[in-house]
Amino acid sequence: MTTVVDIEEPVVAIVVAAGSGVRLGGEGPKALRLLAGRPLVAWSLDAMAAGGAVSAVLVVADGTQALYDAVVTEAPLPVTVVAGGPTRQQSVAHGLAALPADAAVVLVHDAARPLVPASVVAEVVRAVRRGAGAVIPVVPVTDSVRRVTADGSVVVDRATLRAVQTPQGFRRHVLVAAHDAAAGHDHTDDAAVCEAYGVPVALVPGSPDSLKVTHAADLALAGAVLAARA
Ligand code: C5P
Repeated sequence: MTTVVDIEEPVVAIVVAAGSGVRLGGEGPKALRLLAGRPLVAWSLDAMAAGGAVSAVLVVADGTQALYDAVVTEAPLPVTVVAGGPTRQQSVAHGLAALPADAAVVLVHDAARPLVPASVVAEVVRAVRRGAGAVIPVVPVTDSVRRVTADGSVVVDRATLRAVQTPQGFRRHVLVAAHDAAAGHDHTDDAAVCEAYGVPVALVPGSPDSLKVTHAADLALAGAVLAARA
């Protein structure tokens, strides 16, 4: 059976930015740390706007609305700031609770991935519009990988592994129901929330440019990606 989907249905992005950034070091929220002179979250807002599919953004921040005022004012699309929670999953839940009524497709993006290409955002949205309930961008794993056990460690065939990026895309009702069912758990991404609820997760190609800024060296690497684009 063919799923008929209205291609004009609104896509809203939840950009989670309430992480403390302890591993990055330095002062203030990680999302406000500067990359080429602009806060990470400002780059992420640009990325959400770039493909033209996203109509509005909810930034889930650490409660310091005043800190985000300048970012929101300069954003290329309408932005609402809502307070985050103690875990990423709870921060996403706060974003879901604040979604506009007409949001049919929801993207969840880490502010810590400022350089996701517009093509990846577009591919995620396209896959949801074609009927997937949950979509994630992935890239092959390039390191050799071992699983640590009580007795030592065992090799894992990296050819079977993929690293998971954001934005992840969802039918709104699927993600809301999955999050309601997952309350009290602590999943590290929304695909895991959906999988625990029994929703199949579709994969689309991610990008090596969409690195997650976690450690100080990642900021330098992101700067190099930007310089290469220029
Ligand atoms: O901690 P982790 O690296 O998984 O964080 C991924 C994203 O989730 C970051 O953009 C961070 O700001 C966000 N986050 C959040 N609320 C938390 C923890 C993380 O919005 N309590």
